[in-house]
Amino acid sequence: MAIHKTEGIILSSANWSESSQMLTVFTPEKGKITLSVKGSRRINGKRGRPLRFARLEFSCYLREGKESGYLSDVEPLEVYLFEKDGQLGRLTFASGAIELLNNLLTAQDPQPACYQITLSFLRMTDTLEKKRLPGLFAGYILRLVSLLGFRPNLAGCVGCRKGLTEIIGDSPKETDRLMISIERGGMICDDCRSTSPGQNQLVALPVKLHGTLVRLLESSLEEASQIKVSLDNLHQTVDLITSLLKYHAGNIRPLKSFDFLDKLVRAVKTYGG
Ligand SMILES: [Zn+2]
Repeated sequence: MAIHKTEGIILSSANWSESSQMLTVFTPEKGKITLSVKGSRRINGKRGRPLRFARLEFSCYLREGKESGYLSDVEPLEVYLFEKDGQLGRLTFASGAIELLNNLLTAQDPQPACYQITLSFLRMTDTLEKKRLPGLFAGYILRLVSLLGFRPNLAGCVGCRKGLTEIIGDSPKETDRLMISIERGGMICDDCRSTSPGQNQLVALPVKLHGTLVRLLESSLEEASQIKVSLDNLHQTVDLITSLLKYHAGNIRPLKSFDFLDKLVRAVKTYGG
């Protein structure tokens, strides 16, 4: 086995026994790798807390051609402690993001762009004013699923390519809703819905939220964090994304339950939406 040095973020850790731990690490060059950690090398930061949210440098032995091995040493490069106002909410958004990432990444599939935006997301979650976190989180998950090939089509009908105004008219009411076909991964017009098969699973998206999502999809994380996203909107956004992922990513690898949703809603409530 050869020794490697690589930076990475811990996606999950499991205790195998009193003296050993298994880490799942997201690295920019190798994607997801798993490292076993023996006894005294247990990964802990200040005051013995695990370094759950940090950019770390790992020295590790990797099996030839494999994405697994064991840890020799680890050095923190950048640690996100979320000590500013609203610590619980910051931790919850960060946990939700890492859980989603861990569910979506597959072995032997480096995703350097996902790695970089995840670092930006963690940095901003650590430093931004708490009222900007819902927009930041929504922007991050939309960016993440887009990079991984699950970007929802919100520009026009997935069946006939009809544009937005053709579907909802020039002056839509706030209460109007657009239909999203989960199977087809985007907006669908009434005509296509009634004439073509393959859209049994539909999500109704309020016109106003559709506009917010389009803006978020076009935004950098910095811009997204300036967009006001209410509790209700964030919940609907996460619901839509998880429905799309369960259907489309499920074929590749079964996704674990997205149980952070409720935690997330509680976190947003803390901020008053
Ligand atoms: Zn259509």
